[in-house]
Amino acid sequence: MKPTKSAIDGVFLPIYSRSDEPRSASHKMTATRADIRPARFPESLREIAAKVRDGQRLDAADALTCFTTPHVLHLGRLAGAVRRELHGDIAYFNVNRHINPTNVCVYTYDCKFCGFAALPGESHAWEMSHDDVYAHAAKQGGDSVTEFHIVGGLHPDLSLEWYCEMLRGLRDRFPSVHLKAFTAIEIGWFAQHEKTSIAEVLERLRDAGLGSLPGGGAEIFHEAVREEICNGKLDAGEWIEVHRTAHGMGIRSNCTMLYGHVESAEHKVDHLMRLRDLQDETGGFNCFIPLAYHPENNYMGLKYHTTGTEDLRHLATSRLVLDNVAHLKAYWIMISPKLAQVALSFGADDIDGTVVEETIYHMAGAETDQHINRSELERIVREAGFTPVERDTLYQPIRRAEPVGA
Ligand code: SF4
Repeated sequence: MKPTKSAIDGVFLPIYSRSDEPRSASHKMTATRADIRPARFPESLREIAAKVRDGQRLDAADALTCFTTPHVLHLGRLAGAVRRELHGDIAYFNVNRHINPTNVCVYTYDCKFCGFAALPGESHAWEMSHDDVYAHAAKQGGDSVTEFHIVGGLHPDLSLEWYCEMLRGLRDRFPSVHLKAFTAIEIGWFAQHEKTSIAEVLERLRDAGLGSLPGGGAEIFHEAVREEICNGKLDAGEWIEVHRTAHGMGIRSNCTMLYGHVESAEHKVDHLMRLRDLQDETGGFNCFIPLAYHPENNYMGLKYHTTGTEDLRHLATSRLVLDNVAHLKAYWIMISPKLAQVALSFGADDIDGTVVEETIYHMAGAETDQHINRSELERIVREAGFTPVERDTLYQPIRRAEPVGA
């Protein structure tokens, strides 16, 4: 096959090594780092392509280029090569259920982007009892759940002991289900509320059944952005300290970045660098999840959704920059199952899970379904050209006795 000349900065040129064999879609799918030919990339990405090919770490300037280049497809090909080297054609999903015990939050009017929170007594405020939580947990959407993902608002009156009792109750009733619970913001709030240390809070929660921490609450670390979108909430140093402490205790966690609002590319580079530094230090992050801003029911005054190109750019850049975080999640709830399929070729190796009932992003304007069953997740992955593997929270493959799609 002869290379096609293109006036658009080489955009149609084959970018991997070529042979005289006919090329097929599956051949391209298996391209890895070693196949990358930097000379066939747009000039502005050649140095980055060479670094990716050679396994060299990207620096902050490279990350800035990734966040600003118009050549998103080329970026995706680099990220896809890295992803294939890490995970082959495997794409992970899990069978999970979200539980939000309360949306009452002391930061309701401070986190301007949040469409979920309410003050006590507001008409859309809710507080579950322990029995409500257990009944909610039992509604499993037809599949046998391996993870409860539990996050909520910072309730001014619920004690740490109330949450510990909730975890103990869940552990007793669902002993095989992993409890991934409480963002760093909630952990920090518990410590402040109980006038104790982060380590003490984590110790008590772990004794009650906590398995790992989700990655929420990071938003954008840069102080100028936090001041504008979530003034008063835990700062970047405190968010990092919660995760550092958890990792030091052997509790693994995820990490996130909320993009698509007032932040600049430089702010995002700073964010990823701080996460990468902590991961170099502790190795405790399982997964990074870029979270797309949603515009409804909030005080930001920004009424647009992120675009598909923007979503794919953030996934690809994250895969390239966070070279020490094993997994990258394309959260289908946020970007739609259809774009999550494409994201698997842009660096992502995980599309999250069945969820069953999502509240936080649907209150903020997400238009996706609230539930996808296991067989449908598998179909989504297969149709994208990857092999679906059901995982547990810590990315161990799950082997089920019952037939797929049960
Ligand atoms: S983002 Fe979290 S901390 Fe902020 S208002 Fe919403 S629930 Fe509360």
